[in-house]
Amino acid sequence: MATTTSSFVFLKSPIPSSQPSHTTTLFMHNVPCFHSGIQTRRIKGIKAQYDSNVNVNVRKEHVVIVGAGIAGLATALSLHRLGVGSLVLEQAESLRTSGTSLTLFKNGWRVLDAIGVANDLRTQFLEIQGMVIKSVDGRELRDFTFKEEDESQEVRAVERKVLLETLAGQLPKDTIQFSSKLAKIETSPNGESMLELTDGSKLLAKWMGFPEPKYVGHCAYRGLASYPDGQPYGPRVNYIYGRGLRAGYVPVSPTKVYWFICFNSTSPGSKITDSSLRKKLAKELIRDWPSELLNIVDSTPDDTVIRTPLVDRWLWPTITPPASAGSVVLVGDAWHPMTPNLGQGACCALEDAVVLAKKLAGAIKSEDPSVEEALRSYGTERWSRVFPLSIRANLVGSLLQWENSVVCSVRNNIVIPKLVRLGPLLEHTNFTCESL
Ligand SMILES: Cc1cc2nc3c(=O)[nH]c(=O)nc-3n(C[C@H](O)[C@H](O)[C@H](O)COP(=O)(O)OP(=O)(O)OC[C@H]3O[C@@H](n4cnc5c(N)ncnc54)[C@H](O)[C@@H]3O)c2cc1C
Repeated sequence: MATTTSSFVFLKSPIPSSQPSHTTTLFMHNVPCFHSGIQTRRIKGIKAQYDSNVNVNVRKEHVVIVGAGIAGLATALSLHRLGVGSLVLEQAESLRTSGTSLTLFKNGWRVLDAIGVANDLRTQFLEIQGMVIKSVDGRELRDFTFKEEDESQEVRAVERKVLLETLAGQLPKDTIQFSSKLAKIETSPNGESMLELTDGSKLLAKWMGFPEPKYVGHCAYRGLASYPDGQPYGPRVNYIYGRGLRAGYVPVSPTKVYWFICFNSTSPGSKITDSSLRKKLAKELIRDWPSELLNIVDSTPDDTVIRTPLVDRWLWPTITPPASAGSVVLVGDAWHPMTPNLGQGACCALEDAVVLAKKLAGAIKSEDPSVEEALRSYGTERWSRVFPLSIRANLVGSLLQWENSVVCSVRNNIVIPKLVRLGPLLEHTNFTCESL
């Protein structure tokens, strides 16, 4: 494929701090780009400049990925394993390591196996055996063992920081360029794409015509409790279901426990910058609950406590744009943000990464002229997976956030103890993925 060897130019070294980021521009000519956003497709040329007087280094790349999150790094690593290089542009000065922990189910682990980082992570994070659901008075409503429901299930809560560092650590040096925030994307009259780096976010999705993610009416506080002398909890997920309020905690490692509190709020609210205030507000929500969760929140360093309004985007057929537009394609939350009620956002971002990398690397290596076709094929395959999951996650959240006392009583006394079966509930974690 002739175009894979075309030259392109971009900033080789991170933007110097002395340079105001708003003067940095990337010009991309028929360049494949993903936003985890990712921009993919063959790069014929990228010209990067701080301003007209600054020298820039150049190097050849096939793919530019915007965002060094889970989706972006997993895609870069999948491509790397398949022999395709990429450049990852990240707005932050370093890996964005806030976000406490993520529960990864077997579909996430199959992808991590395929890209060769799972065993490294397995040594650091506990395998979770099952889950217990309680009411706010401490009564156990139901418990499940994952392997009894599905022998192949694998569940571990993984620190986001360690996951990102592990993925990044396997990439060739200089793959990630920090302090590079995409601010603008335009198509010139001759069809070239132009990216401008500065202040801005979720830009590619907007550029491609996607609606803003929709706030679903709940927010979550999350934190990572620290027990330097060892945490005392068994390896299971604990859920506590109240009225319009639910919480949970899960041991992550021998010294850390992840917790969340999800509450109803008519608006997303303004950002709370004071981390000790976030922790105080989180504790107030559960002040009348059994002390176990309060003790866990108390054992949490303030700066790990975060508050996130929950959002999603439903990818309606024919109404919502496809995942790719020409050389640009979306992966992960940039395409399909979903509520965390099924613990599938990051798992699906990992799935996106391998599916996309295989199709894209195949198109590039086979000298097939249609990289765009590979992107469309990715979008079609993944749409049927992520659209129903986003809806399901939303509905589960709505059910669990009910405030009505009668509905909550039926849920806690009939539905959960007698009707729920975990096996069918976790069928969405089935995903096959061969090594890359
Ligand atoms: C409360 C909560 C709990 C969750 N729990 C789970 C769970 O248990 N299991 C699970 O699988 N998922 C969970 N998720 C979902 C999971 O966090 C996301 O699906 C996942 O992080 C998506 O990864 P991503 O790479 O697409 O996006 P992100 O992780 O958000 O990464 C995007 C990256 O792009 C960068 N970026 C953004 N804009 C620009 C720009 N303009 N220029 C350059 N860089 C840019 C950002 O700085 C960031 O590094 C949870 C989510 C929430 C809110």
